[in-house]
Amino acid sequence: LVEIRGVSKSYSGHEVLHDVNLTVQPGEVVAILGPSGSGKSTLLRTINHLESVDRGWVTVDGQLIGYEQRGERLFELKEKEILKRRTQVGVVFQNFNLFPHLTAAENIAEAPVALKRVSKSDGRELALGLLARVGLGDKADAYPRQLSGGQQQRVAIARALALAPKVLLFDEPTSALDPELVGEVLDVIRDLATLGTTLIIVTHEIGFAREVADRIVFIDGGQVLETGTPAQVFGSPTHPRTKEFLGKVL
Ligand code: ATP
Ligand code: MG
Repeated sequence: LVEIRGVSKSYSGHEVLHDVNLTVQPGEVVAILGPSGSGKSTLLRTINHLESVDRGWVTVDGQLIGYEQRGERLFELKEKEILKRRTQVGVVFQNFNLFPHLTAAENIAEAPVALKRVSKSDGRELALGLLARVGLGDKADAYPRQLSGGQQQRVAIARALALAPKVLLFDEPTSALDPELVGEVLDVIRDLATLGTTLIIVTHEIGFAREVADRIVFIDGGQVLETGTPAQVFGSPTHPRTKEFLGKVL
């Protein structure tokens, strides 16, 4: 479903992604682990072209993200087309990023209505359904500031689902939360995983990754150093850097 091929990316001469290859199957749950600064967020952001790439390409369901091919070369798409293709990929960030002036329901309905996928009243219906799904059926008209961090993050997940993306990306979805609120957000992600949603999750929640992920991808220095089932990677890591990292976090 998601194919990342030969992706490299530099910031002012400093390479933060080096020839990354990763294929994610439909329904697969992939957890990306790695030290701080290893390129996890950058990699995730290339998947919906929040970040351009210097080399390589990303496709979702066979469609190039951010670029089109003409002859041998790739050219960056126009903004409007980038946005259209980006709707295939939902993203949930660490800091929720809800619109503060919109209610929970309005946050969720905003994109589907703006993109004219649904009417305003259908947008509200959609939002209510998604809020119920993340356990917030009674919070439709609450503003983000009236919600706990865990509730805000669940609204953000509902919002990401509103465009029925083919894959959902999570970048440390619980790391800004108080410890007692982490569980409720992980529960929602676990439900999505159980329902067969394709998920790519950058997380420091090792226990959660071990439990829900079909596959662990370990990144360091902008390279995929190791990938395997949780049993393989946690049980018998092969790369010395993976061993070192797991030694610190387990
Ligand atoms: P963390 O676990 O701390 O979130 P990460 O693995 O997500 O780390 P990235 O945020 O992808 O790491 O960053 C990888 C490298 O790229 C880091 O060295 C970072 O300083 C650098 N970097 C990221 N974004 C930019 C940017 N916009 N401009 C310049 N350098 C950047
Ligand atoms: Mg990051």
